[in-house]
Amino acid sequence: MKEGRIVKVAGPLVVAEGMSGQKMYDVALVSEKRLLGEIIELKGDLASIQVYEETGGVGPGEPVYPTGAPLSVELGPGLIESIYDGIQRPLDVIREKVGDFVTRGVSVPALDRNRKWHFVPRAKVGDEVEPGDIIGTVQETVLVEHRIMVPPGVRGKITHIEEGDFTVEDPVARVRTGKGEIEIKMYQKWPVRLPRPYKEKLLPDIPMVTGQRIIDTFFPVTKGGTACVPGPFGSGKTVIQHQLAKWSDADIVIYIGCGERGNEMTDVLIEFPELKDPRSGEPLMKRTVLVANTSNMPVAAREASVYTGITIAEYFRDMGYSVALMADSTSRWAEAMREISGRLEEMPGEEGYPAYLGARVASFYERAGRVITLGKDRREGSLTVIGAVSPPGGDLADPVVQATLRVVKVFWSLDDKLAYRRHFPAINWLTSYSLYRDTVRDYLDKEISPDFYDMQTEAMRILSKEAELEEIVRLVGIEALSESDQLLLEVARSLREDFLHQNAFHEVDTYTSLKKQYLLLKLILYMYEKAKEALERGITVRELRQLPVWERIARAKYISEDELVELEGIKKEIDNEIQGLIGGKSKEA
Ligand code: ADP
Repeated sequence: MKEGRIVKVAGPLVVAEGMSGQKMYDVALVSEKRLLGEIIELKGDLASIQVYEETGGVGPGEPVYPTGAPLSVELGPGLIESIYDGIQRPLDVIREKVGDFVTRGVSVPALDRNRKWHFVPRAKVGDEVEPGDIIGTVQETVLVEHRIMVPPGVRGKITHIEEGDFTVEDPVARVRTGKGEIEIKMYQKWPVRLPRPYKEKLLPDIPMVTGQRIIDTFFPVTKGGTACVPGPFGSGKTVIQHQLAKWSDADIVIYIGCGERGNEMTDVLIEFPELKDPRSGEPLMKRTVLVANTSNMPVAAREASVYTGITIAEYFRDMGYSVALMADSTSRWAEAMREISGRLEEMPGEEGYPAYLGARVASFYERAGRVITLGKDRREGSLTVIGAVSPPGGDLADPVVQATLRVVKVFWSLDDKLAYRRHFPAINWLTSYSLYRDTVRDYLDKEISPDFYDMQTEAMRILSKEAELEEIVRLVGIEALSESDQLLLEVARSLREDFLHQNAFHEVDTYTSLKKQYLLLKLILYMYEKAKEALERGITVRELRQLPVWERIARAKYISEDELVELEGIKKEIDNEIQGLIGGKSKEA
């Protein structure tokens, strides 16, 4: 292909002439160092190229080599457990090759070309196959069976397929198509900016259970859903992300770390590989892919990293898995967009962000979903996207936050004031929301209990009423409240301390099944009902507060999942103690 010539270098942006006939978003290699870049603007003969490596020392007059292909990722065995940079270079392999700081123009394939994988066919010679059909499997890690799929665009009859140990470059099958015979390898390439195809989008009406009570009971996210979490420093964002990665009932976790301060990202690179999958006891990395950009990497690579991550996530979704993708922080991604847009001298929108910020953010989250994948067997796969935002000064009016809130369906409002009071998870129950509460209702009615929904509503009512009453208490003192309002405050305290508060570091408390969440909530509301009856019989809140059973309710969350019958015992104690109070009262009278 005809080469171009650099006319201008501005940070990560290079302008080259002689580029007519090129396509937007195609990759071009810049200078003799062959730095990877992507064409992001074409004006006549001139192309603006965003370069994913440091451009220092590159100057006008040097060549640019167009490749005629869009920025793509490699998808196949070897993805799991990998740690990639924003353009899918394996960081560990590069480190071995050239040391800690990624040097420029290093070209290392994303998938190891020498490693052999044991391929077990699922299809046989003579089978008619279409895109998405699974023709065989590879046990990629102890936790993940990698399903080898017919790539998009290939359709025909299998003429050869065999079991054995192969590298990703070896053909494992051949398919006779209308255009001749095609070899199928265990990996495929896919352009990152193009969503991978599927057959149908389904309503995401199955909750993704996280075992975190405030999330599952009050602000659920679904398989295929979208959520956003802001994270003021010290508010417990890291702990939440780790909890989600460990406990969510997702088969695969993709974590995109997008250029937080250098050392923070290093924390992720050190911490994540040390996490254990609590269910299997295996390292969590055995079902995880990390995409990491530290701040010492050029800004443009951050822009690419969210696309690299979500394309890998879609690929596992296509196998029929439920995938959870976490991106932290999408604000850094948007800042990269802003910087590039500034260099292109585009008309700035709010706070200097490009006018297309909203559209970009929306098209990212739109890649989430629960789908029927390609392939004859109508598999179901899902991709849940959880984006963290980190607005400057925690200001939620920030354009990136606003653009995100317009598209995501769940907002977990991490609150540094709660964290300061050591209420964890510090998700503010008054400002958070989930638009999936009604969507998952059928599922919860069937799987848990038809009264769960109304209990959630009632508990939320109590907590909002508490917030109102607190205002009055501040002004005129608690004694000014009616007995029934004082009781409500007592119950609200129990909801906060005994239900919402959840210790990530306690071996039982760290995870609560939906069933147990339901029973715990029911216990607190049962206490409320019985206490209300007692008030009607002339018992005071002061007397009710003395009951020892409150302490039993407070400790109920530490009851293990196999001993949930104990909760019935606590209910009996509630009955007995309240009956005792009422009995005592009538004797007095
Ligand atoms: P951030 O990443 O927002 O700066 P972290 O996630 O590191 O904050 O949390 C800060 C500290 O808060 C943790 O070290 C831990 O002590 C506490 N913490 C956060 N979440 C929880 C939780 N769910 N249970 C118990 N402690 C928590």
